Amino acid sequence: MRNIKIPGLAQTQSINSVYCIGRNYAEHAKELNNPIPALPVVFTKPVTAITFDGGEIIIPKNLTRDVHHEAEMVVSIGRTGRFVPESEAMSYISGYAIGIDVTARDLQSALKAKAHPWTLAKGMDTFAPIGNFAEASVVEDPADLSISLFVNGERRQLGNTSDMIFSLPALISFLSQYVTLHKGDLIFTGTPEGVGPLIHGDKVSAMLGKNLSSLRLTVREI
Ligand code: MG
Repeated sequence: MRNIKIPGLAQTQSINSVYCIGRNYAEHAKELNNPIPALPVVFTKPVTAITFDGGEIIIPKNLTRDVHHEAEMVVSIGRTGRFVPESEAMSYISGYAIGIDVTARDLQSALKAKAHPWTLAKGMDTFAPIGNFAEASVVEDPADLSISLFVNGERRQLGNTSDMIFSLPALISFLSQYVTLHKGDLIFTGTPEGVGPLIHGDKVSAMLGKNLSSLRLTVREI
């Protein structure tokens, strides 16, 4: 899969690398009995995991019986940078969207127990839904945006980006010490508490801020 466009941005940008931050909200780290990290926990998803508003989350039931939703703010990177200082980091962001870090929790737990990478638990097709991006220029304060997720109309998650352990400038600066950030990279910035299971037929909706970006998806088991 190549040249998948980032939805919502005026200037066409194709999705490049997809980075994700784990355990970036204290209450979520606690609900999974994980320690508060001293440094950002970083993993990646393949671009093939991307899906869009109106689409489906597809669960291969021979591989997992416990898939969870993790609603997260996703940022898109608008220019190339390495060794980005925190003071300049925000200028690298081109847009903001809601996303869901879909996770096969049973598979992830089994892989973690063996100290194996959890890539397959979080990287299956459709496991990275993203909504339309709002241009960075219209977002007044990305450090104060609500993140909400509903399953069949019932609210399961409600958080605020003000509760992130590592701020956007800290995350971008940290990542850029290791990798060159490119235009079209996406960063899933971690989920607040309230993660839980999704099953066949569930209607999932999620939102960032007051209608800044939204997602509607149906869950299908195959
Ligand atoms: Mg996550």
